[in-house]
Amino acid sequence: MRTPLVAGNWKMNKTVAEARELVSVLQVKLGEIAGVEKVLCPPYLAIPAIAEMLQGSGIGLGAQNLYWQEKGAFTGEVAPNMVKEFCQYVIIGHSERRTYFGETDESVNKKLHAALKVGLTPIVCVGETLQQYEAGSTSEVVRLQLREGLAGVDAASAPGIVVAYEPVWAIGTGKASSGENANHVHQRVIRPALSDLFGTANADAIRILYGGSVTAANAAEFFAYPDIDGALVGGASLKADEIVAITKAAVRS
Ligand code: PEP
Repeated sequence: MRTPLVAGNWKMNKTVAEARELVSVLQVKLGEIAGVEKVLCPPYLAIPAIAEMLQGSGIGLGAQNLYWQEKGAFTGEVAPNMVKEFCQYVIIGHSERRTYFGETDESVNKKLHAALKVGLTPIVCVGETLQQYEAGSTSEVVRLQLREGLAGVDAASAPGIVVAYEPVWAIGTGKASSGENANHVHQRVIRPALSDLFGTANADAIRILYGGSVTAANAAEFFAYPDIDGALVGGASLKADEIVAITKAAVRS
């Protein structure tokens, strides 16, 4: 009942020329895969060019961040309606934004409301650090991130949100979580927390992606679990063969 979603987060990689080169392959190969929502999240500067290339391809476009203010003296920031001009999705609260740029559950919440207001589909990232994982506090940390990050969202808008569970220790490290562990967090922690916030029916409609060192080699292990509704893919999304294989693995049989 939930359409799987695979999103590629290119992070700070690829010039416009390099982005065009990758998308010239992906628009054909990803375009052929049915039954999965496909999203590319290039750096801001490549977005207009890629938006043009993706027209009519069935592949969505997302930004990696936005600012919550509508406009004004906020040097270096990008407003929600500027993102909306080209994109349908936006990643919010990625752990790299939290770690390197001081983002908090409070700023995540402001960005989430701003994204929903302009009609973007937010992909909200949550996940525990290695220290928190080792201390056994994953559930507590993730629940708090959801409660504060998603505060004030009305239940009717909730199904339009995508949540990405990204344990920080698994991002870019090559050390993915096991499918079993990720599914446990999705099924026993995230979905019940969403249910508390928005009611069971709305919570059941929200896609929960796994992110953290997903590759063509391990993707099927995650997608075999019913509560893993797709993936947010970093490093492997920069290689056409990898992201195409991951997306194919996400098709529900
Ligand atoms: C990410 O950037 O969201 C991510 C999961 O990165 P990687 O796949 O490289 O671990």
